[in-house]
Amino acid sequence: MMGTIAPPAARALARLHEAGFEAWLVGGCVRDMLLGCAPKDYDLATSARPEETKAVFQGETVLETGIRHGTVTVLLEGMPLEITTYRVDGAYSDARHPDGVTFADNLRADAARRDFTINAMAYAPGQGLRDYFGGQADLRAGCLRAVGDPGTRFQEDALRILRGLRFAAVLDFSLEEETDRAARRYAPLLTKVSAERCAAELGKLLCGPAAGRILRAYPAVLGVVIPELLPMVGFAHRNAHHCYDVWTHTAVAVDHVPPRLPLRLAMLLHDMGKPDTFSLGEDGQGHFYGHPRRSVELAEGILTRLRFPRRTREQVLCLVRYHDAVIEESPQRVRRWLNKLGPERFFDLLEIQRGDASAQAPAYCTRLDHLRRLEKMAGEVLAEAPCLTVRELAVGGRELLALGYQGPAIGTALRRLLDCVLEGTLPNEKTALLQYLEQTDAKKSEGKRNKSSGET
Ligand code: ATP
Ligand code: MG
Repeated sequence: MMGTIAPPAARALARLHEAGFEAWLVGGCVRDMLLGCAPKDYDLATSARPEETKAVFQGETVLETGIRHGTVTVLLEGMPLEITTYRVDGAYSDARHPDGVTFADNLRADAARRDFTINAMAYAPGQGLRDYFGGQADLRAGCLRAVGDPGTRFQEDALRILRGLRFAAVLDFSLEEETDRAARRYAPLLTKVSAERCAAELGKLLCGPAAGRILRAYPAVLGVVIPELLPMVGFAHRNAHHCYDVWTHTAVAVDHVPPRLPLRLAMLLHDMGKPDTFSLGEDGQGHFYGHPRRSVELAEGILTRLRFPRRTREQVLCLVRYHDAVIEESPQRVRRWLNKLGPERFFDLLEIQRGDASAQAPAYCTRLDHLRRLEKMAGEVLAEAPCLTVRELAVGGRELLALGYQGPAIGTALRRLLDCVLEGTLPNEKTALLQYLEQTDAKKSEGKRNKSSGET
């Protein structure tokens, strides 16, 4: 029933048992094993106090990762295991952190502090499953149910609300009725939770297979973390290309891109600028001129506020900026785009455009054929090992210096050459490139003049 436990985790349990302590696998790993998938990591709960746990694992690498909360991390055969003493959390006065931690004398008390019934089960080989709150039944029913009174639990720690939506999106589950009601009611408390913790849950939510359904069902909850999304909700396109309002379109589009964070974030944010840029044409059609630029502005604020890493931010903003760009089907244009974005980002952009088109009126599917052809063309262009950057040109600064180019004139000349190569008017061959420069010598002396005038 439980599949196999990674050997280091099993050995850690055995060592604690041999030393006379209780020890259980708890939380996410038990849930994942019951679902039949391999746990990402193993958490253990034990009756041993942190000092006792350290003594049991003497000789191993033991990190005092959260010793104040009773957690030590033991590195067994390269696998980090979080081992936490049974505990009950103290009172919460700020909807974020327990005021204090008290060690508990039994597993049940430890399970009772956990967020959802499916996360509150414990298992140990030879001892079986401990399921005090009906987690197994909820797991079978696809149900997220808070342990205890949902309102109380969400007031203690509002992050649990977002965790609930995250697990629903990742596992394709639904919130139980009372849990759902409390999640909506106490969502405003999410403003007290740190941006990083919210962003981590939001990221996992977005990459879940049921992300679109959760976005559609909980805009007001998510709108506490990202108020900028609220104007999209129910905002009609009034445009023949669209069959959904802006928020529903967004949610459907999210489901249509691969589950990688930058793509999912870009899809979430791509049309945020629409409500601000709406205009009604004389033909009665809604238009959103310049909305990508407005979306970029809003997205930048959101990604910065939520402290997403710089690289993620930069990737997402680029995809949002160009999500609506028309990419012409010619090798020249494709080479230009590959030069501008780099191959990886270019293919990501095609995914974004595909996701966007898939969430529009079905009559608009011709766009999908266009994107398929572009993808094929990009593959062919790349197969020719094209020169896409100045660095890949068959000539470099050294040759240009020998020709008499100096300073900034070198860079200018190289960019001019790359331009011709991308356009397909020059082959990327040394003699052809140098010959071209000789023939267009006017530019060279101009470059030199600039250089010398700069010096005087
Ligand atoms: P994942 O697969 O993402 O690691 P997980 O269930 O293991 O999911 P973690 O954040 O690693 O989630 O937390 C481990 C366990 O700790 C949870 O299963 C849950 O029992 C408990 N837990 C985590 N965060 C909270 C919280 N905010 N409130 C109550 N219990 C929590
Ligand atoms: Mg975990």
